[in-house]
Amino acid sequence: MTPSPSLERVARGQLCSGCGLCAGIAPGAVAMAMAPPGYLRPHQSAALTDAQEAGIAAACPALIVDESDLAPAPIDDPLWGRAHFVGTGFAHDDTLRHRASSGGVLSALLAHALATGMVDFVVQTGADPDSPTGNRTDVSADAGAILAAAGSRYAPSAPLADLEAWLARGRFAFVGKPCDVTALRARARTDPRIAAQVPLMLAFFCAGIPSAAGTGRILAKLGVEPHEVAAFRYRGDGWPGFATATLHDGSTRRMSYADSWGDILSKEVQFRCKICPDAVGNAADIACADAWYGDDRGYPSFAEQDGRSLVIARSMAGLALLDAARAASVISTEPLAMAEIIRMQPSQARRKRQILSRLAAMAVAGRPRPRYRGVQLRQAAVLESPLAQARSFAGLLRRFIQGRT
Ligand SMILES: Cc1cc2nc3c(=O)[nH]c(=O)nc-3n(C[C@H](O)[C@H](O)[C@H](O)COP(=O)(O)OP(=O)(O)OC[C@H]3O[C@@H](n4cnc5c(N)ncnc54)[C@H](O)[C@@H]3O)c2cc1C
Ligand code: SF4
Ligand code: SF4
Repeated sequence: MTPSPSLERVARGQLCSGCGLCAGIAPGAVAMAMAPPGYLRPHQSAALTDAQEAGIAAACPALIVDESDLAPAPIDDPLWGRAHFVGTGFAHDDTLRHRASSGGVLSALLAHALATGMVDFVVQTGADPDSPTGNRTDVSADAGAILAAAGSRYAPSAPLADLEAWLARGRFAFVGKPCDVTALRARARTDPRIAAQVPLMLAFFCAGIPSAAGTGRILAKLGVEPHEVAAFRYRGDGWPGFATATLHDGSTRRMSYADSWGDILSKEVQFRCKICPDAVGNAADIACADAWYGDDRGYPSFAEQDGRSLVIARSMAGLALLDAARAASVISTEPLAMAEIIRMQPSQARRKRQILSRLAAMAVAGRPRPRYRGVQLRQAAVLESPLAQARSFAGLLRRFIQGRT
């Protein structure tokens, strides 16, 4: 079997985001499987056709992110992307708002698109019934299924691995990580079925995918063996809610978001996420995030309260969905100046400002790099101080030299 040059390059650079598109393009030859320490990675078992190889080379987000052909919008910001509308909001359905990650806007919009016949079904990621801490991407065909999948799951997901199955089934809305949407958009350039059958692509801001080992560390800290777990939620059921393990005996153990994400999961994030040029879903029709309130020191506060989403309509299709959902009293929103987002998402801003210096460190270390186009890296970099850029460059180079990536 001839190994795929594209997949070899991705593996050599540890560049995979785990989106699953390569498996979707080459079913039967590439499948997603867990690789140590617990990331979903492509496993090649047969030779790829030239068309499959070319398809992966043109759309894999570990190799290329090209946003230069996205339709322009009235606002375009190097840190936060394009926007027809920026605001905060929440779902009117109290049960959904409580169960969801932030204000439940993503789920409410998906349910509205389904109820009004804009799409036949939704492709989304929820808990894997066979492995409660893991994820499974599946079809949601009613509001109950969307409610069940609401909430963030800080574990690997490869939602594009079964793309052919979703495309064979009909017209759908997709929700996933920004890199999943980037990959799907890129694939749409050569697969006309995607433009015709996926009228809505939604994303959330993404700090990165932690390894499954990170979830294992949460369980260990909670004093729970994996086989004891019947269900696991990473957050939600409040804002931000708790990482909660429900055991087979019905008892629960839980950990705050600050402890689970801040102390454990954020330290387990895969390498590709550290050089992610679009972790804010700029290629999506709508992107949502946590509209954290600042605390007294100006940092986001994780004190429990009613959920509030940051909502950005990035395309005309996204704006139309938002308007329709507002008119139907499914969600409420109020406008927010884009300049305010940095107070809610300081880590996202820092990472974007430092991508260029990290890419420079990769170049000096002779590592394979993805090609980034149309993602305003220079404009973002000039917003960072030279000292911070130097630290970012030297820090990553040191990690390469020490073999710590
Ligand atoms: C790995 C990860 C990193 C994140 N990083 C940030 C961040 O840096 N800043 C920030 O503001 N928000 C981040 N979030 C998102 C945030 O937690 C909320 O999802 C977002 O605010 C939208 O809230 P909501 O209430 O509208 O979403 P909900 O209504 O709860 O809907 C969430 C949707 O996300 C989908 N989903 C959940 N987990 C996954 C997954 N692993 N893969 C694919 N799809 C999934 C679900 O299917 C659901 O449709 C992250 C989420 C994840 C999963
Ligand atoms: S980033 Fe996606 S398409 Fe690229 S190798 Fe990884 S799973 Fe495959
Ligand atoms: S940070 Fe970027 S590369 Fe990593 S999972 Fe999120 S969107 Fe994908």
